Amino acid sequence: MGEAEALRELMEADRWIDRVRAQRDHLPELAELSEIEDQLRTMVRQLTDLEKQTVPLRAKYDEAATSATKFRDRAHLLQERLANVNTSPKDLAALQHEVEQVQEKLSVGEDAEVTLFLELGPLDEAMQALREEAKPLGARRNELLNVIKELQSTLDEEIANLQTQRLERAGVLSSGLLSRYETAMKRAGVSGASQIDGNRCDGCRIALAPLELDRWRGQASGDFTNCPECGRILLPC
Ligand SMILES: [Zn+2]
Repeated sequence: MGEAEALRELMEADRWIDRVRAQRDHLPELAELSEIEDQLRTMVRQLTDLEKQTVPLRAKYDEAATSATKFRDRAHLLQERLANVNTSPKDLAALQHEVEQVQEKLSVGEDAEVTLFLELGPLDEAMQALREEAKPLGARRNELLNVIKELQSTLDEEIANLQTQRLERAGVLSSGLLSRYETAMKRAGVSGASQIDGNRCDGCRIALAPLELDRWRGQASGDFTNCPECGRILLPC
């Protein structure tokens, strides 16, 4: 095999590896996963906001409920004392006065309890709705993570096999030419050689000047010019 042919085979191996790598990194499942994760992150933020809104309301509600219970118990106790036949008329008047006061406080406390309960309702419902909405997204996310893991491990295996083949192909080249190829590849990426397609380098897609094209056409066998734009070794046609 001539050096041009060996270069072409190495270039094809590297382009193939690049295609499989691109496939591995741009799976449609990865795009879907990223979209779902964005949605989930937005939902978590919304949930956190709602939770923050409920914290002071819930504290006030608990306070109102505790105080209403206290007054309810007190009212009950006073009613029992009022019902006691042995209570003196003087004590009876004082008791009735206290009952009125406690009833009034109880009524204020119960109103606060109801108001806060009603304010909490829509917030709790919105949080519940968010959690329900997140469930199928979470399930799809897990599915995608598994599919991606499997696909990527298959593609990684393919890349490893291609790398072995690539090494074999690189071994055929003379050390000078291989080093030129590797330098161009490091600089331009994907591969260290390219072909002329029409009047363009098919590595960087830039048209060569007529003078450069003449130089390329006139290159002696075994003598290679580089693309003036990307620096890749230009293969003969
Ligand atoms: Zn080029």
